[in-house]
Amino acid sequence: PELTNQIAAGEVIERPASVVKELCENSLDAGSTRIRIDFIDAGLKQVTVQDNGSGIAKDQIDLAFTRHATSKIATERDLFNISTLGFRGEALASIAAVSHVEVVTSSDNLGGVRAVFSGSEKKLQEDAASPKGTKISVSDLFFNTPARLKYLRSERTEILKIVDIVNRLALGHPDVAFTLTNNGKVLLKTNGRNDLRQDIANIYGRQLAEKMDVLKNSSPDFKITGLISDPNTTRSNRNFISLLLNGRYIKNYRLTQAIIAGYGSKLRPRRYPIAVVKIELDPLLVDVNVHPTKQEVRLSKEQELERLLTTSISEALEKTPQ
Ligand code: ADP
Ligand code: MG
Repeated sequence: PELTNQIAAGEVIERPASVVKELCENSLDAGSTRIRIDFIDAGLKQVTVQDNGSGIAKDQIDLAFTRHATSKIATERDLFNISTLGFRGEALASIAAVSHVEVVTSSDNLGGVRAVFSGSEKKLQEDAASPKGTKISVSDLFFNTPARLKYLRSERTEILKIVDIVNRLALGHPDVAFTLTNNGKVLLKTNGRNDLRQDIANIYGRQLAEKMDVLKNSSPDFKITGLISDPNTTRSNRNFISLLLNGRYIKNYRLTQAIIAGYGSKLRPRRYPIAVVKIELDPLLVDVNVHPTKQEVRLSKEQELERLLTTSISEALEKTPQ
């Protein structure tokens, strides 16, 4: 089982940023309103994510670290109606297969528990004081998979990938206060007051945020909201379009193209916006179970959504004088 765990881990946990993404998504699924992420040495020495969410009950710890065990779906029908970010029950097992993990958690402020896992094995579990919520520390990532270590890029690149994923998660969840630090230095702090423009100001700069146009449109199947930069003053590239589908940060070429199409015009062809575009839809219309990292999705009615995105954006921009 150790080997299968390591193989599967490779699909979900490619680099320190994958650890950060999976732990933060668990914190979001647990209903947290505050998430703090600290990392040391590009996340290879340590990544810690602390939240104030539901916590994990003492007798559920083993299950949480078991592959394909999830508390989030119960039946086959649930698999087509996913409203949480996680559902495959792979992340904790995968992370524990390739690192040392310490979890300190409590579902109330009374009794808590501390457990230590290493290379898929539980080393220790004991009662421990803990505020309500969960703190997971991942140390010495890939200590037992040297090939994976070699595949990593420069420290700087790995740090940028961590910052990028936390930025996008924060933009997708403005009602959650995120703090991100690297070797103790604060890289991002959002206030969790549901103010997307303020969060964008923190991440991309106040001047840009103040000039952004509001996106708001809907059809019977989709609801689109967000903010998009002013085409007259923005130079960007396609990397600064954040697509959030039911709160999940996704990558999707065609939807991104539809956004770019709405942004461009004869006067300003091939311009790229800085944008946060949130799409809400019935979970039954989207298949998230395409890839272990869940960043790819398959959509029913994709063309309808593409058209709606393009027109929503061109209309939002027309409302402001060009
Ligand atoms: P999944 O998110 O797909 O269910 P994970 O391996 O990421 O699988 O997590 C396994 C289980 O551990 C979750 O289903 C959840 O019950 C529990 N869990 C993990 N992280 C947290 C957290 N921060 N707060 C509360 N429960 C958590
Ligand atoms: Mg998860």
